[in-house]
Amino acid sequence: MEGKMKILNRDGIGTLFESLKRRGFQIVGPTVRDGAIVYDEIDSTADLPVGWTDEQTGGSYRLKQRSDGALFGYAVGPHSWKNYLHPPEVRLWQARREEDGFRILPDSDEAPKRAFIGVRSCELHAIAIQDRVLIGGAEQDPTYHSRRENVFIVAVQCGQAGGTCFCVSMKTGPEATSGFDLAMTEIVEGNRHVFTVEAGTDRGEEILREVAPAEASEEDRDKAKRVVEKTASEMGRSMDTTGIKDLLYRNLEHPRWDEVATRCLTCANCTMVCPTCFCTTVEDVTDLSGEHAERWRKWDSCFTMDFSYIHGGTVRSSPKSRYRQWLTHKLATWIDQFGTSGCVGCGRCITWCPVGIDLTEEIRAIREVK
Ligand code: SF4
Ligand code: SF4
Repeated sequence: MEGKMKILNRDGIGTLFESLKRRGFQIVGPTVRDGAIVYDEIDSTADLPVGWTDEQTGGSYRLKQRSDGALFGYAVGPHSWKNYLHPPEVRLWQARREEDGFRILPDSDEAPKRAFIGVRSCELHAIAIQDRVLIGGAEQDPTYHSRRENVFIVAVQCGQAGGTCFCVSMKTGPEATSGFDLAMTEIVEGNRHVFTVEAGTDRGEEILREVAPAEASEEDRDKAKRVVEKTASEMGRSMDTTGIKDLLYRNLEHPRWDEVATRCLTCANCTMVCPTCFCTTVEDVTDLSGEHAERWRKWDSCFTMDFSYIHGGTVRSSPKSRYRQWLTHKLATWIDQFGTSGCVGCGRCITWCPVGIDLTEEIRAIREVK
């Protein structure tokens, strides 16, 4: 949808939060916790990572103070929005023993209305991928569905590339072009601190009319455009995706898989932080009296031995086979399965790998050594 671009100052962001709250939305956005920028429920702009940025490289993440008071002057942290849409743990049902047997108790997992603040372009693409996987087929995941339909998305254009990002290579950023209700670009110059804002939906337009009466000038529109252009030119990583599916299919026995297996700890961090990974397992628990039972769904990972366990043993018993499964699923078989890559180039798996394994380097190595 093509709407007018408006302008807000920092107080205007607070007014936006209030307007969303009046409509019943819980505000979820970036905030500093335990030395990282994570997504959590926030109340006001003071809870945002004001004046913080992050430095990221393989296996390393550090927060650093910025010299300005930017609200969104960082890349992405360890959390992604899947923590809210496809949560790490969900109780599927519970049951109680009664005189005539077990009775399944109704479980109310009513999803609250949430407004996601500060969603980046790569994350919008990751949400679209999870939409395809979890609610885009014949079978729909009701937990994801109810959470997803209650979300209002406020995107923020990336004003700085992370050290491990490669969204330009994956064609997923840095400019957010769809999938949001509102999209903002932060402009900080000297004492001037403003946000250009555009609507992507009718409900975004309605809120924008309420909170931002002033139109952005031509000059501010140009500045906003230059913010994403500059970010695009500063990507920390790049990956040549030419023929990547066939490259991986042709190289299932490449010596690089043995090499990466000597470094990979199979810790599963990369799958936990990845905004598109969706695999789960179920666990049944009972109390000691045997009166109460519950079934929980929990995130699982292709890096665990149990994940590929079938009668008689584990299909992928070696680290080599598990790393190969993960990378070939992300970048090759995912394309056959869902029509897109499973990777949006957010860089989290590189930053949060304890030994700094970098999928862009792995692909380069597979391309170079024939
Ligand atoms: S690639 Fe890194 S993060 Fe992923 S399982 Fe191996 S050691 Fe862990
Ligand atoms: S594979 Fe890595 S870079 Fe790609 S989306 Fe997942 S975490 Fe981000």
